Amino acid sequence: MKHIPNIANEESLKALHRAKKRSMEWGEFSHGPDGHELRLNKAREQKGMCGYCECLLTDEGITEFKEERHLDHFYPRNKGVEAKPQLQYDWDNLILSCSREDCCGKYKDSDKHNILPSQIINPRHEDPRDFITFVVEEDGRSFENRRYVSAVAREDVGEEKRRRAQDTIDALNLNYKPLRVARRNALWLEQDKVEMYQEMCATEDDVEVIRELLSEYEDELESKEFSSTLLSYAHSKWGEIT
Ligand SMILES: [Zn+2]
Repeated sequence: MKHIPNIANEESLKALHRAKKRSMEWGEFSHGPDGHELRLNKAREQKGMCGYCECLLTDEGITEFKEERHLDHFYPRNKGVEAKPQLQYDWDNLILSCSREDCCGKYKDSDKHNILPSQIINPRHEDPRDFITFVVEEDGRSFENRRYVSAVAREDVGEEKRRRAQDTIDALNLNYKPLRVARRNALWLEQDKVEMYQEMCATEDDVEVIRELLSEYEDELESKEFSSTLLSYAHSKWGEIT
């Protein structure tokens, strides 16, 4: 989960405004052409990734966007004590999520936990990386494929932030097993390269050169699926170098 910078699209803003004025049914809007465009624009804003788990929402990038992706209302439009129907057509309240039932937007809105949206981190307004980090865990067996990457509350923050981190992890079920496995697979693909950069830094004396190298590589990681996991691993490897 990472911060989503606001890159509102003017056409979609107008479409949302029109739908609100006409008191349109959400389902009608969402499944119509404006809803389709909104999904595309939200996917662009989120670099093609689920706004909660950071899985890639498409196989081929946003051009071959799949309609079944879930347009999530951070504050639900009609369900629960924190429902905010007035924010139904609010760009800022909409986050594009994967459509898994057992994590992310749909899980957040389910009856499977008692955590309210106001208790969790809103990635549009806060940086989840200030709260949550990732650790490699093993299930006690020695095979490599028994490792998982789990989301955990950061230890270097206060009690209040740790509590919100844990509520967020639980409300979005960020440690749903398929997610932990997918993060591990993403990490495997990048591990050698992270170590290569680590070695390069160890043999380079010029701090400015090192900073530049790492910053370019970090930009590359930022555009990848599960980027928060990859970056937290990279930082753990070269924490003191920079
Ligand atoms: Zn997701």
